[in-house]
Amino acid sequence: MWPSVLKLDISGIPEAWIDVEEAAHYYATDSVAYSYGEVCATLHGGISRLTSRRSVIDVHPILAVRGHCVASRLLRAQPRLTRLNDKLFRRDRMTCAYCGQVFTAAELEREHILPFSRGGRDTWMNVVSACRPCNQRKANKTPEEARMPLLYVPYVPSRWEDLILQARKGHVLGDQMDFLRAGLPAHSRLAA
Ligand SMILES: [Zn+2]
Repeated sequence: MWPSVLKLDISGIPEAWIDVEEAAHYYATDSVAYSYGEVCATLHGGISRLTSRRSVIDVHPILAVRGHCVASRLLRAQPRLTRLNDKLFRRDRMTCAYCGQVFTAAELEREHILPFSRGGRDTWMNVVSACRPCNQRKANKTPEEARMPLLYVPYVPSRWEDLILQARKGHVLGDQMDFLRAGLPAHSRLAA
């Protein structure tokens, strides 16, 4: 299976994961300003009528697309808290915010610190990962009312973290991980 390619804007801000075919399209249209990392895929294109040679595109794991500066938009936008919980659980390192134990994704739930029924919103700052027993025990209360203090605080992931969280598990190449880790804020739980 081909790895995903990390697409940057011209200023080096990570924008998205793209597939190798899309990356090859940027190379073929001469839209790649610069790229990093060792070649991670080689694609063979059609045979040139002029030279009778098959075109070959070497795809690097990180590439910046020419004429495409979206840094200010990217940095302003908060990463989306998706309905699927895997990004949240990975932000919280699969750890229940109330008992501190590590669980599998199947054993964790999205917990609203200020309960949904009391106006709590579905935002990065109001959700943590909790195991089912803790979630049920806390029920419709705040942590103070339930006497269940949070063991860690929620935070909004940065773009760099979000792209790590989005990546399919185990599919981030070393060059890509090094690049994204270099952009992590000090408080990130993904930095370790
Ligand atoms: Zn728990």
